[in-house]
Amino acid sequence: MPSDLEISRAAVRKPLSDVAADMGIPAELFEPYGRSAGKIALDAIDALADRPRAKYVVVTSITPTPLGEGKTTTTVGLGQAFGHIGTRGVIAVRQASMGPTFGIKGGAAGGGYSQVVPMEAVNLHLTGDLHAVTSAHNLLAAMVDNHLHKGNALDIDPLEIAWRRVLDVNDRDLRQIVTGLGGRQDGLPRQTGFDITAASEVMAVLALARSLPDLRARLGRIVVAYDRAGNPVTAEDLHAAGAMCVQLRDALQPNLLQTTEQTPALVHCGPFGNIAHGNSSVVADLIGIHCGDYLVTEAGFGADMGAERFFNIKCRTSGLVPDAAVVVATVRGLKAHTGRYRVVAGRPLPDEMLEENPDDVHAGAANLRKQIANVRAHGVTPVVAANAFPGDHESEKQAIVDVAASEGVRAAITSHAAKGGKGAAELAEAVAEACREPNHYTPLYPDELSLTEKIETVARRMYGADGIEPSRTARAQLDAYECHGFGALPVCVAKTHLSLSDDPARKGVPEGWRLPIREVRLSAGAGFVYPICGDMRTMPGLSSRPAAEHIDIDEAGQVVGLS
Ligand code: ADP
Ligand code: MG
Repeated sequence: MPSDLEISRAAVRKPLSDVAADMGIPAELFEPYGRSAGKIALDAIDALADRPRAKYVVVTSITPTPLGEGKTTTTVGLGQAFGHIGTRGVIAVRQASMGPTFGIKGGAAGGGYSQVVPMEAVNLHLTGDLHAVTSAHNLLAAMVDNHLHKGNALDIDPLEIAWRRVLDVNDRDLRQIVTGLGGRQDGLPRQTGFDITAASEVMAVLALARSLPDLRARLGRIVVAYDRAGNPVTAEDLHAAGAMCVQLRDALQPNLLQTTEQTPALVHCGPFGNIAHGNSSVVADLIGIHCGDYLVTEAGFGADMGAERFFNIKCRTSGLVPDAAVVVATVRGLKAHTGRYRVVAGRPLPDEMLEENPDDVHAGAANLRKQIANVRAHGVTPVVAANAFPGDHESEKQAIVDVAASEGVRAAITSHAAKGGKGAAELAEAVAEACREPNHYTPLYPDELSLTEKIETVARRMYGADGIEPSRTARAQLDAYECHGFGALPVCVAKTHLSLSDDPARKGVPEGWRLPIREVRLSAGAGFVYPICGDMRTMPGLSSRPAAEHIDIDEAGQVVGLS
């Protein structure tokens, strides 16, 4: 099979204005950004409001291996597949962050014949939204330091500044830095650091805003520091939110691209999956929901994390109600849940894992059963996609379908990476059936529950924990957030995505454990509180062989080495 880059380059693309027209977007609301992408004006939300509402489908997965089990690829494949069963699919996915593109291998635009194209656009600058987030975030950082330098009228406590700087480069040396070195004219020396742009609260804000005024209001609510009396100081207090919103005005408009089969693809926002909610934008979905028969979107990580945040943070904000959830499972993923194999990113699978062994798939199936239950806990109908990789044995793929059947869940074996949309046609039929069932979507917890109770609910019901163990610091922070009026916010639990528990080494469905909470942070602009469980890196580093070493320009001026 040709490489992803070769397939992307060979894909026949439609003029994007035609793709927009197919979606019913009035010509004056579509703005081309070169030939690879365009932006859709937010007026489309109102302009399309009277059109029929598409069925809303979220793609999630079992607890993944570090290699990923194919959510993005399945999102693209399923969106394409709807075109093969006489309906119209639209997809909405996150935008890749450039840091990881040059860090670890693995494209973020799907794979094989189920990709968003062109790959270079999706994985590189696209329309510059990430740069806008970086600029807006760092403007606020500069205004905080300037405020200190110019006399600190707000009495900000320099040791209680929560706002760091961001950059879209994997650079571990920037994690902890000292700024303001030099003399009196060069600022106040203080310790701070950089996070990757995807981890910026501005990215989470952009992804959750429903309109430009809502973006403006959310930016104003960002808490950047505390004053010496312990009161929150916001971006509004610093008079920074207006200028930030101006920098983000274009970035709030969703990007339109297409797939290898010319299916409309909204590619917008990429909030971090661990400390933020890991879902593409609300505005893209508010537009896409009126642009076809099915809107398919991806929620990062396994159903305990990405889908839980999709149901409890994103849908709570957008007001959109999901009709079905696809749970992606793979033979390699379920075999890994036996705990017998070690799967490492960037390395081939262990040889023993490639031998035909359907019993192993059954032995690891508890994780799939739990993630199915996690979807059902929100009243949403799950459908299992057995995402087939080359080398999977028939009996092993069938084992996934059998596990789903034993849970009373529809399932289909898919081959969309190798065959494009027609390889997921059976999945599309199953999803269409699931969408016709009565909808009982309900969030996991009401707003009125305390923050501690919300965290406990997620830990017990999604992760299977016996309870939570907040540190003394965490307890004090939770009390302070309640006291400052943030108690009605939903929670976004930051833990490893590689286990249902807080320990990445524990596979399957760990039992007899409690979730330790080290500290709790606030994203008041995005609108959630995030407890931190374990070490959460917000600035990745590069490996000994970064992907950047293989990326180059050939004689024809084409990008080579992206994967
Ligand atoms: P996720 O979104 O769950 O992290 P991706 O869809 O990005 O997973 O897939 C992870 C990697 O595996 C990507 O490099 C993708 O191209 C590849 N991949 C996914 N599904 C298949 C498949 N069925 N066959 C071959 N490669 C696949
Ligand atoms: Mg993905």
